[in-house]
Amino acid sequence: MRLRNKPWAVKLVQEHPESVIDRPDPTQKIDWSKRFADISKPLEIEVGPGKGKFITTMAEKHPEKNFVALELQMTAAGIILRSKLAQNLPNLQILCADAANIDCFFKKHSANTIYLNFSDPWPKTRHEKRRLTYKTFLQKYQTVLQENGQIQFKTDNAGLFAYSLQSMNNYGMHFDFVTVDLHNEKEDILTSNIETEYEHKFASQGNPIYALHADFGV
Ligand code: SAM
Repeated sequence: MRLRNKPWAVKLVQEHPESVIDRPDPTQKIDWSKRFADISKPLEIEVGPGKGKFITTMAEKHPEKNFVALELQMTAAGIILRSKLAQNLPNLQILCADAANIDCFFKKHSANTIYLNFSDPWPKTRHEKRRLTYKTFLQKYQTVLQENGQIQFKTDNAGLFAYSLQSMNNYGMHFDFVTVDLHNEKEDILTSNIETEYEHKFASQGNPIYALHADFGV
């Protein structure tokens, strides 16, 4: 999904280097201890947050955790930044970069959860390598996640869901939770679910939401 370019978003990002790391050099590790007040808090990363409703809500609800929004598009980064400033979320940082380099930006085994929400499906076989659940991405997530860390994935796209189950299974991952109808799950699962912008749109059109939680085991 490509957002229309918003000049104000680019300007806002440029004015807030304390909150956004804009296209960092992948050969340089980022010192997150300089960006979060308390680096001992558990770290959670959302890859491809788009306009960022999920990650900003998570950061608001969980001040006991640190969050990074890893987003390719500068306009989306600016929209997330606007929410971060409005909601006063010191535990949220925005990283404007390609998730293909995620292992360059974080220390090994430093995160406890990676969220993939409504990732671009890239349905053509020749684009398989771009899917965020392709094996090369899984390998990088494994490097960044702690040993007991989890990937939490949601989508409305049956093809991408089937592909991701297969890709994770082939990689030897363990599934802790799988559903083909998240919004009709038990009450405790529903109450802890934070909707994304895409989730809200697709669910309100009556589409089922697929979800899974998986880890790399030890
Ligand atoms: N997660 C949001 C939601 O559910 O509403 C947005 C979903 S949108 C379909 C996918 C988002 O992932 C876009 O904002 C896109 O820029 C971002 N994205 C795609 N590939 C990416 C990559 N390699 N690294 C970082 N972000 C990426």
